[in-house]
Amino acid sequence: MSLKGKSAVVTGSTSGIGLGIARALAAEGADLMLNGFGDPAEIKALQDGLSAEFGVRVGYHGADMSKPDQIADLIATAGRELGKVDILVNNAGIQHVAPVDAFPAERWDAVIAINLSAVFHGISAALPGMKERGWGRIINIASVHGLVASVNKSAYVAAKHGVIGLTKVTALETAETGVTCNAICPGWVLTPLVQKQIDALAAARGVGVDEAARELVGEKQPSKSFVTPDQLGALAVFLCSDAASNMRGAALAMDGGWTAQ
Ligand code: NAD
Repeated sequence: MSLKGKSAVVTGSTSGIGLGIARALAAEGADLMLNGFGDPAEIKALQDGLSAEFGVRVGYHGADMSKPDQIADLIATAGRELGKVDILVNNAGIQHVAPVDAFPAERWDAVIAINLSAVFHGISAALPGMKERGWGRIINIASVHGLVASVNKSAYVAAKHGVIGLTKVTALETAETGVTCNAICPGWVLTPLVQKQIDALAAARGVGVDEAARELVGEKQPSKSFVTPDQLGALAVFLCSDAASNMRGAALAMDGGWTAQ
């Protein structure tokens, strides 16, 4: 499959899952607009590295996904610099862990803003151009927590359930167009976001980080192995293909069997 001539915005693509998906899209020939936080020199090296490896154009925009005006500017800039936005991967996300009755309101607002509202703002900015051109792919990175819950993750679970709802509505509203909208629901993926939880678990249980990682993945994921950013990248590429043109509003779990239980 080739994505040559297509342009993709991947939010939160300076690390983890977003970077895995950006790499997979670039490997198929898509030009990229990266986004996310990080050291400017490292981001520049990432741009140059991807561009050299895959022979694609790689831009960067540092929009803070909690800010609607910056999200609009990200999409507008990608449109200007890459010519158009054909693929939008709404991936940026954060996590906060606390019981619902001790959840700081300010963290609730931040998790909802970045994990849910940013998906809405991204779609509303990118969709009109996709509809006009008759082709588009919107891929929202939800989570198993969009399908099931875990304790102490109220804002995250609420946001990810919301992302799946928004995915379905967008899919229905675009059902007769060449634009599709689907969600991917990863289980545990070993990224900086999850490393923080592993470190906290290791400290709480008095075990090493490797042992904590095994315990974390083993408790929920029957495969007892982490899903990888590359595997999620391959699924995103499939969703961009013509073979997936009638997948609309799906919430695809890649979770080592977590939600099959
Ligand atoms: P990560 O922390 O490795 O990467 C998150 C990315 O988002 C980084 O590039 C970061 O700079 C960016 N980001 C964070 N806040 C931002 C903001 N305000 N504005 C712009 N960029 C911002 O995390 P990850 O594990 O790769 O998670 C990516 C997505 O996958 C998230 O939506 C997360 O909820 C989801 N997810 C992760 C897992 C997992 O196990 N890692 C499982 C299910 C779903």
